Amino acid sequence: MKVENNKNTIRLPETELPRIVVLGGGFAGLSLAKKFKNQDVQLVVLDKNNFHQFQPLLYQVATSGIVPDSIAFPFRKQFKTYNNVYFRMANVERIDKETKCVYTDIGMVAYDYLIIATGSDTNFFGLEDVQMHSLGMKSIQEALDIRSLLLQRFEKAVVTDDDELRNALTNFAVVGGGPAGVETVGAIAEFKKYILPKDYPDLDTSIMTIYLIESNERLLSGMSDKASKNAIKYLEDLGVKVHLKTRVTSYDGENIKTADDQHFKAKSMIWTAGVRGNVPEGIEEDSLARGNRLVVNEYSEVKGCSDVYAIGDIASMSTKDYPNGHPMVAQVAIQQGDLLAKNILNKWKGKELEKFVYNDKGSMATVGKKKAVADIGRFKFGGYFAWLLWSVVHLMSISGFKNKLFVGINWIWSYFTYDKGNRLIMRRYKKSKRLD
Ligand SMILES: Cc1cc2nc3c(=O)[nH]c(=O)nc-3n(C[C@H](O)[C@H](O)[C@H](O)COP(=O)(O)OP(=O)(O)OC[C@H]3O[C@@H](n4cnc5c(N)ncnc54)[C@H](O)[C@@H]3O)c2cc1C
Repeated sequence: MKVENNKNTIRLPETELPRIVVLGGGFAGLSLAKKFKNQDVQLVVLDKNNFHQFQPLLYQVATSGIVPDSIAFPFRKQFKTYNNVYFRMANVERIDKETKCVYTDIGMVAYDYLIIATGSDTNFFGLEDVQMHSLGMKSIQEALDIRSLLLQRFEKAVVTDDDELRNALTNFAVVGGGPAGVETVGAIAEFKKYILPKDYPDLDTSIMTIYLIESNERLLSGMSDKASKNAIKYLEDLGVKVHLKTRVTSYDGENIKTADDQHFKAKSMIWTAGVRGNVPEGIEEDSLARGNRLVVNEYSEVKGCSDVYAIGDIASMSTKDYPNGHPMVAQVAIQQGDLLAKNILNKWKGKELEKFVYNDKGSMATVGKKKAVADIGRFKFGGYFAWLLWSVVHLMSISGFKNKLFVGINWIWSYFTYDKGNRLIMRRYKKSKRLD
């Protein structure tokens, strides 16, 4: 692609090769980029962060289990042996599909082919007060906010003489009973059980109530009934109060109200109840599906756009087995990224293209230490073995040998000591003034 560099274009080497611009270096964007390593194409990866993040372990960062650096991997390190990939840290704002350009906060870049892999963000379903006062957990930055929030609450609780305030400060609510909510609430319950009595011996931790609130009639709706029932049992054993068929309608920073007129008190609420696609401007309504996802065909082509593809959480591909689109999980994103790269290369060679068929390798969720649930094909099981499997699979999936090693050592350490070594308040919780 021959594009002249001017002050509004992102500086890139001129090339005669086709230019593929990838928006987002998550599971989908990164797996695609890896397949184009040193191929005859100029690949430009744009991401608002300078690192790839491993979202499945965000909850461990949020609850002081591991350091954030161990689930992040710098793009420049990833691409250092790729002679055709250019990373630019940029926030993507708009696409102009007529002129085939992407506009970002650092300038414009023209493309021959565009891959949208910007993933999804927390969906507050228009509940403005909930958005204002609760925390989402879709990024390392948000996980660090939660970590600080949790610890700052205890620091405040230990110095107040006001019993009611102490109760509200130590109560935590997690809304959303999917894997993220279940794993987070389990880790908070373990924090209460193993860490608080040691760190805050003069705080009566029995006053702390942890709620998991889910609007559905069961937890882990993407998994089997057995997994849901096991998860509830493990959580209740840890002292979590699980409320099913309960839809949160408002939250003022302390009082949680629900559609069926229930009322919970907690100064901290983590919202994992829904996600919506991060669609850049410039895409017509007609190309959007439920959950603000992009409608794509089985070759990942975005409806109504030419040379524009979408993969991962952002893409809604309706198939016979998944009429409402595939589940928003890492395996779908990775497999779509792999296949799209293969198809683009095959298209250039005049070979036949392959339709995407999701190979579901199973689902797992952990509930505290030594307990997890797993649905692997027809095998549905829970308990210690599921937890071991969960640990191995997640450890192997983290990017970078050093990260695997650090997380592995951390887990072994806390397995034997029941400790969570990273309980540091490194930032102020800035979303509202509640902690000031
Ligand atoms: C807390 C949590 C736990 C999870 N647990 C599991 C699990 O156990 N198993 C599982 O399979 N899945 C899990 N998931 C889901 C899984 O992480 C996602 O399905 C997967 O990350 C989707 O990959 P993606 O590449 O589509 O998007 P992402 O991984 O979200 O990547 C999107 C990328 O786009 C970038 N981006 C977004 N907007 C812009 C913009 N405007 N400009 C520039 N860059 C942008 C982001 O920085 C990010 O790097 C979990 C998700 C969360 C949040």
